[in-house]
Amino acid sequence: MLKKITLSLLILLPFVGLAQTDRSDIPIPMKNGIIWYEKSYKVNTGLQKKELFNRASAWINNYFSNIGAGTGDINIAAIPADEIDGTGIFKIITAAPGSYYWLRFAVNITVSDGGYTFKAYHVYEKPIEKGITNEYSKLEYRWRDFRIGKPWSADDEPIFKGLDSNMIAAMASLEKEMSNEAKQVPKFKVIAFYSTNVESDHVDFARNAMTFYTELAARKGFAFDTTSNWENLNDANLKNYKVVIWLNEFPHNEMERHSFEKFMDNGGAWLGFHVSGYNDKGTHWPWFVNFMGGAVFYNNNWPPLPAKMIVNDNTHPVTRDLPLNYTAPINEWYGWKPNPRDNKDIKVLITLDPANYPLGKKNVIKGGDIPVVWTNTKYKMVYMNMGHGDLNFESAMQNKMFEDAVLWLGE
Ligand code: ZN
Repeated sequence: MLKKITLSLLILLPFVGLAQTDRSDIPIPMKNGIIWYEKSYKVNTGLQKKELFNRASAWINNYFSNIGAGTGDINIAAIPADEIDGTGIFKIITAAPGSYYWLRFAVNITVSDGGYTFKAYHVYEKPIEKGITNEYSKLEYRWRDFRIGKPWSADDEPIFKGLDSNMIAAMASLEKEMSNEAKQVPKFKVIAFYSTNVESDHVDFARNAMTFYTELAARKGFAFDTTSNWENLNDANLKNYKVVIWLNEFPHNEMERHSFEKFMDNGGAWLGFHVSGYNDKGTHWPWFVNFMGGAVFYNNNWPPLPAKMIVNDNTHPVTRDLPLNYTAPINEWYGWKPNPRDNKDIKVLITLDPANYPLGKKNVIKGGDIPVVWTNTKYKMVYMNMGHGDLNFESAMQNKMFEDAVLWLGE
């Protein structure tokens, strides 16, 4: 697939005024009689085509916008593509005060798995000097005369040196971007919303979760952003993300709710912990109740306690690293009525083991079928009841589920 990107490059070069007779110091490459820069690169990071395409596109945008010459026009919807076709322009300062030349050329970058090829050709020149109104003309005419010792003017030297040094610099810049191991293009982007003005046990969990996912993001190559400003739950911002996580909080106004509904209805992914899924008769958000599979908060245990878990399905991507039974660290557990298991769209992944009952002292859960982790199969979403206090990350086994969930949601 070929994409058209218009780009321009402004680089100011100092004037080099000394005429020389030996022109081998300006090694401008030729192919079939025209100026032709071409070089193929292997990328030592072994990055795949799609990622190299993204990097090349981003490079074009950044390289040119950084020097104040506007940005390329990149159509994200066309990704993955394997070819970027565009136009580059160098600005070369020449002898007379206020004079310069535009050197315009075609740029083509093709990407493949583990490498790419850069090409620049069809170089045209356009002098900008007092009293001169030339249009673009092929640089080869001037280059041919220059090489046989018949320069048109003192401008030849800076033009050809400028073309070569600017092109080498551009190619080196692209190579740096394409092979930069440290700056891995994120596989997907996640944003976690939290609040600091809620129950302190809920804030503790949120902070632990942010530490946990920041480390995971670095290890697994996704972007992880966090915010306690729920106004960021808006259409424009959510467009940047594949996964939204709620760490013990939920939206409180219609605008935020509506943006979240649109995000999910358009294929976004959500991971909600603990009180993020809380709703009762005062919530007045039917869409969310439906999203949760009809589950409405019913009861809870107090104080928080560890509890035995039944893993209903350990073939699901979220729970595949869990055994069929394990003990979850200290948490406050919620019961739900209606029971989301009764909803045909809900797949329950983990259930509170009835062997825990009675669970609690002040508030006792005496019985009932209580789903703990579930997904609404009409959406890309997972709800987990874990999330109260600072001990939820004490189980390596359960941590793997926290990890697997985000990786699945980000797919
Ligand atoms: Zn709680």
